[in-house]
Amino acid sequence: MSKNYDAIIIGAGIIGCCCGYELAKRGYRTLNLDKLHGAGYGSTASSCAIVRFHYSTPDGVAMARESYFYWLDWAKYLGVVDEIGMARYVNTGCLVFKTEKNHYLRKVMKSLDELRVAYQELEPAAVEDFLPLLDTRQFGPPVAHDHPRFGHPTGDSIMGALYLPESGFINDPQLSCHNVQRACEARGGEFRFNAEVVEILEHAGRTAGLRLADGTTLEAPIVVNAAGPHSSQINRLAGVEEGMRIKTRALKREVCHLPAPAGGDWEARATIISDGDTGCYLRPEIGSHLLLGSEDPACDEHHWVEDPDDYNSNFSQQWFTQVLREAQRIPALPVPSRAKGVVGLYDATDDWIPLYDRSDLPGFYMAVGTSGNQYKNGPVAGKLMAELICAIEAGQDHDRDPVRLHLQYTRHDLDLGFFSRLREINTESSFSVIG
Ligand SMILES: Cc1cc2nc3c(=O)[nH]c(=O)nc-3n(C[C@H](O)[C@H](O)[C@H](O)COP(=O)(O)OP(=O)(O)OC[C@H]3O[C@@H](n4cnc5c(N)ncnc54)[C@H](O)[C@@H]3O)c2cc1C
Repeated sequence: MSKNYDAIIIGAGIIGCCCGYELAKRGYRTLNLDKLHGAGYGSTASSCAIVRFHYSTPDGVAMARESYFYWLDWAKYLGVVDEIGMARYVNTGCLVFKTEKNHYLRKVMKSLDELRVAYQELEPAAVEDFLPLLDTRQFGPPVAHDHPRFGHPTGDSIMGALYLPESGFINDPQLSCHNVQRACEARGGEFRFNAEVVEILEHAGRTAGLRLADGTTLEAPIVVNAAGPHSSQINRLAGVEEGMRIKTRALKREVCHLPAPAGGDWEARATIISDGDTGCYLRPEIGSHLLLGSEDPACDEHHWVEDPDDYNSNFSQQWFTQVLREAQRIPALPVPSRAKGVVGLYDATDDWIPLYDRSDLPGFYMAVGTSGNQYKNGPVAGKLMAELICAIEAGQDHDRDPVRLHLQYTRHDLDLGFFSRLREINTESSFSVIG
């Protein structure tokens, strides 16, 4: 059986759902396909869903800040109320440590100033007053768990920090995808689950649709790859990888779920902490717990995954290393003997900046390479993909004359060439989850 759409989006994670919604809003007959049983059960379900602004590039900061406003008024953005509930933004604030690697946050402060984002610069003593349970000695740069220096301070004091009162997390990332699905459906978009794409069809030099594992053929002049950690597989199906200077790869990640330190100190000030000095980030989790992840210090080995459907999804030494690193900063942190949390996959690019772009195959687009830091940016990613697709289909040569998107809240103009597959590796990047 064959059915026609204007655009088919492969994937119903946060990126695919938002692409579908934004295209449906522009009148496209859309179909989101996912091989899983519902929206948001891929890598989005593993996300810590942190909403923070300290990216290493001005465009990164602007995109995250713009997205924040969508989460703040989620129901208004979607224009629907989901019958199973709405995902919720929880404001916690964010404490970011200055390090040599992040250039003592000078560039971040400049971007925040330009966007008029409030923050407080804290001297080391003020960090201690702010959260007395922190040991504010310097421990970095981070080393491997078996290094003789592991656990020993390297200086009397950290270099200070920024506190951003407007930062937080989304309480249920999977539910947020269902919310977008409902909004997309209200605009006429369709969703099909348990539907695995196995072939990209071409006709007369452009995308013509795709084939599913059960043999169904679906026709559409536009196909969007929003397949998360499977993105490189889909790009290979479309034969577009050779034309990409920046590529994507799946990367194993471990997030620790830990009891929060006991006592009023933490409960009163439960905040996100981004600590490049120990190489960890953490956020409060419901029920007096913490989620603790890695900021990818150079000493840690990267576990690249060839097949996202077949990899070792057990916790490893990395889980304990992260906990022991954080216990240097928070001596009162309970260290459980058994690993608990999430093992998931990033879809990382060579420079940890996403690819939101066309491909060399006309009609085949990609919203991929989200590198562990684009959940928060889903709504703006959807918008910029819709803008890009409309402009290119109307004849704009995006590779030579990049499409620009005016961000309505921050009033920043985003040059979408920033996300191009043809860019040189962006040396401004942190080359980590920070983006
Ligand atoms: C552990 C972890 C922590 C994170 N923490 C944060 C955070 O705190 N803040 C933040 O902003 N970001 C965070 N991220 C990153 C963020 O979660 C991702 O960038 C984002 O969720 C990616 O969404 P996606 O829609 O691209 O991918 P996915 O959610 O993976 O969706 C892709 C979908 O495509 C489907 N698919 C794949 N192949 C096929 C096929 N052949 N046919 C049909 N369907 C297919 C999959 O089933 C999947 O559902 C984190 C990621 C991880 C893994």
